[in-house]
Amino acid sequence: MNKKRISSDYKKKIDKFNEYNKAYYEHSNPKVSDKEYDDLKNYILKLENEYHFLKSKSSPSNVVGFKPSKNFKKSLHRVPMLSLGNAFSEEDLENFEKKLINFLSLNKNYEILYSAEPKIDGISASLTFKNGKLFKGLSRGDGKVGEDITENLSTIKDIPKNILSKDFPEDIDIRGEVFIQNSDFENLREKFANPRNAASGSLRQKNSEDTKKIPLKFIAYTFGYEKGLKVNDQFNYLKKLNEWGFKTNPLNKLISGVKNLLKNYNDVEKKRANLDFDIDGIVYKVNDFALQKRLGNVANAPRWAVAHKFSSNKAISKILDIEIQIGRTGALTPVAKIKPINIGGVVVSNATLHNEDEINRKDIRIGDTVIVERAGDVIPHIISVDLKKRLKNSSKFIFPTKCPSCGSKTVKEFNIVTKKIDAVRRCSSEGYYCDKISIEKLKHFVSKDAFNIDGFGKKIVEAFWKIKLIKYPQDIFKLDYNQIENLEGWGKLSVDNLKYSINEKKNISLERFIFSLGIRHIGLENAKLLSKHFETFLNFKNLSKKKKFEELLNIDGIGETQVNSIKNFFQNDTNIKVLNELEKILIIKKVEVPKKNGQLNGKTFLVTGKLNGISRAEVKSLIEENSGITVSSVSKKLDYLIVGEKPTKRKVDKANTLKIRSIDQKEFLNLLNKTS
Ligand code: NAD
Repeated sequence: MNKKRISSDYKKKIDKFNEYNKAYYEHSNPKVSDKEYDDLKNYILKLENEYHFLKSKSSPSNVVGFKPSKNFKKSLHRVPMLSLGNAFSEEDLENFEKKLINFLSLNKNYEILYSAEPKIDGISASLTFKNGKLFKGLSRGDGKVGEDITENLSTIKDIPKNILSKDFPEDIDIRGEVFIQNSDFENLREKFANPRNAASGSLRQKNSEDTKKIPLKFIAYTFGYEKGLKVNDQFNYLKKLNEWGFKTNPLNKLISGVKNLLKNYNDVEKKRANLDFDIDGIVYKVNDFALQKRLGNVANAPRWAVAHKFSSNKAISKILDIEIQIGRTGALTPVAKIKPINIGGVVVSNATLHNEDEINRKDIRIGDTVIVERAGDVIPHIISVDLKKRLKNSSKFIFPTKCPSCGSKTVKEFNIVTKKIDAVRRCSSEGYYCDKISIEKLKHFVSKDAFNIDGFGKKIVEAFWKIKLIKYPQDIFKLDYNQIENLEGWGKLSVDNLKYSINEKKNISLERFIFSLGIRHIGLENAKLLSKHFETFLNFKNLSKKKKFEELLNIDGIGETQVNSIKNFFQNDTNIKVLNELEKILIIKKVEVPKKNGQLNGKTFLVTGKLNGISRAEVKSLIEENSGITVSSVSKKLDYLIVGEKPTKRKVDKANTLKIRSIDQKEFLNLLNKTS
């Protein structure tokens, strides 16, 4: 890469970084996961390290948080509020300690004492107390300037407003974390991705009356400016905070030695799912204030502290229950309900267990302590069980042999392709007998690649099903709109819109229609093949009478599995009833079959340049409908080169050399009309 490209790449990444910071810190609404954000941050730092000419005021090595919002009065911090450096491994911790020892020029074996404090995942605040009275409260902002949120902070019960203790400093900024307990976060789940965002969003409301409604908590852990503080180390400071009426973290510990730090880290990580507040790591602070003073700060973090972060894609939790979900094709999927845990900024409370075999292989049981992984967009899943933590009275999970929804037998099929018994167990009922399958079938029916009914999503299917407005696909076209208008959250306008979207979709192609039926193994591609074969809805429906299923094997791309599935579909009376009912309501378009001896019979065409008001795809289908062929390059075999605006010169030249006829759009359309 040359210098210009590196700089431009760097700038783009910095812009993204700013954009993510703004969304996270100012709007409490992250655009990406913490993992994605941290990856971007590390990428920028790596670039800066490699190419020293790269510099930006917004570099992650300089900035703290984000500039204060315009919604609040700004106020300068008397002592900056910084961020923290990160450590992820034993090696990182060893390096951290080595750096401290080198910087302080201490003996290699010097035992540094650390205050190890669980890192609560909330937002920090700085409270200025003058003569024991709460005087001002600021958010961190960009570390130098904070937002004046005194009124909002005053609503928090954990914050003492008037401190009478004799040894309380006459002027001090008490700093700590404002957070929301996990149990209270449950009610805000819809609005925020995680408790940290919820705390930040709630605390930084324009109107303090709104903040008052949220049960925010405060834990104190440090100070900024001070006058009259008579303590010499962090641990005693934490003790004093308690005496003065502040809450401190009950899991704070005084520790020395990397091995002991790690042990404490592992112990706390195991307790994490049982805590009622979210923590994302442990902060280690050099305990002695005199050493802290000597160590000082780097640009945006103290040199004397580090945050030992928990993994952003794995966490320990506990299985509370195992639920069986039933899919559209009857597949029974076990889902572990786990104690909610924050994995990389996302609160996870469900993890897939895949299937019966997976549960047996890992011997996963209700009550087990497990490691859960959530990486990228993959559904969270259980990696392993901590057998040492298994409860004595736990028993093996027995997979249901009867469908939990309809009571039908559950079966594992023999897969004729793999010649193995399926890992998936299914409900053996057919058609719409099983409620859970029916709901899923309806969701599929209205989905994007099927009927694609605007505004008719999964939630609406469930809501309408619950009040018995729909059971079969045809019910969607016979909705009682008066009843819907009276439902909570609906009004005349939304009902009119829904009605319009439904009516608009009464006209449908055969391939979409076949796909929407949700026949097992008949996805979009197979639905296309079948629609080409049947051409009309009637031909398709008549399969139930003619029963010539084996003929379908002649369709290129359709195999035994699909044919068996289609056979099962047509053997079910409810499915036939659904087809008959839909036939009365819908206009299912006949498939346009290319004319066998059309006007362009056997002639080859190639388009170059842009045509007016007609897309390439449409030209292609016009050619094919009229028995012509489209090719992708100019060769002797080409009959016509259709030349549009700004054609590729090379193609035009080659066509001229080969004496191939070049025609424009008008001539092409004439060609179709002349011969029709
Ligand atoms: P940080 O949250 O990692 O660490 C600093 C903070 O730790 C302090 O400001 C303080 O609020 C807190 N803290 C908790 N307990 C403490 C204690 N006992 N002592 C001292 N401090 C304590 O740093 P940050 O710069 O505020 O935020 C970075 C984090 O935010 C990263 O995890 C990052 O992934 C996340 N983030 C995510 C996005 C996104 O878009 N997803 C955007 C920005 C930041």
